[in-house]
Amino acid sequence: MALLKGLFGKLKEGLTRTREAFVGQLRSILTGRRLSEEVLNEVEARLIQADVGVKASRRLVDNLRADFRAGTLQRGEDALEHLKRQIKEMWPPTDRSLRFAEHGPTVIMVTGVNGVGKTTSIAKLASMLRGQGRSVLLGACDTFRAGAVRQIEIWAERVGVEVVKGQQGGDPAAVAFDACAAAKARGVDVLILDTAGRLQTQDPLMRQLSKIKGVASKQIDGAPHEVLLVLDATSGQNALRQAEEFAKAAGVTGIFLTKLDGTAKGGIVVAIREESSIPVKFVGVGETPQDVQAFDPEAFVEAMFAVEETTPR
Ligand code: GDP
Repeated sequence: MALLKGLFGKLKEGLTRTREAFVGQLRSILTGRRLSEEVLNEVEARLIQADVGVKASRRLVDNLRADFRAGTLQRGEDALEHLKRQIKEMWPPTDRSLRFAEHGPTVIMVTGVNGVGKTTSIAKLASMLRGQGRSVLLGACDTFRAGAVRQIEIWAERVGVEVVKGQQGGDPAAVAFDACAAAKARGVDVLILDTAGRLQTQDPLMRQLSKIKGVASKQIDGAPHEVLLVLDATSGQNALRQAEEFAKAAGVTGIFLTKLDGTAKGGIVVAIREESSIPVKFVGVGETPQDVQAFDPEAFVEAMFAVEETTPR
């Protein structure tokens, strides 16, 4: 229970700016007011500004409007509750946990555009899996980017896992091959492959990703078991476009949404749910390997709508 409280506290703290920009603003629009077409338009504009996305914002407000016109929704405070309920209902209970191999190593490919927090997120995943008692090996397949291998090595050392690497500029698929072979030989539970992300519109890069997938699947049954796309919450709607492109090209199975702490754009979670079929599986709420949480929509929406404490900390 203490742990749960701690996790929620961390999430709530991380979502402070989102809460202020999103629900805080909605609260000031709605509190003490009767609904009207004008108020509803203000709500819709606010949702869009909070990165909830045009599509979801319109749908959510259309539902409010329908109840308002039917005479069953009149108070601003009730509209806020209505919105919270609607947003929560967007995520029916589903299994968002990682898919593990039944036998042999589980292979998790991680991709994402430079700077989104890919390396940090890999360290977070490795640390989390180690905490669950699983052995982890990293494959440094991002051979394009100068310094990427060194960066992953530094993190690996910090979280106590080994890295299989190749030459900078070398063939990423060859590194994937070696990493898979090492994972099998050493009998590790999870192999995390760091793959280059650069621009999702770069065709050769996408071909590279499929080549790595092919290499993994040939060596290890069912691999890759997960393809995680790292997206930066601070990039707002741009993150959605990346999700679309990568989904087409790389068969992404889950999203790791980083940097939710310190951004006002946390509403992007709602836009991703509305506009993409890829589930958010993890959220990053800080810069240390411990700052990762499995995405829990119920807790997320509660944290977003939480009422600010009035007592000073
Ligand atoms: P990469 O280029 O995608 O591998 O990105 P890095 O892992 O090097 O991270 C880029 C920057 O984002 C670093 O300064 C990280 O500390 C920071 N970062 C990564 N994830 C998070 C997060 O969840 N929250 C915050 N606040 N910063 C993060």
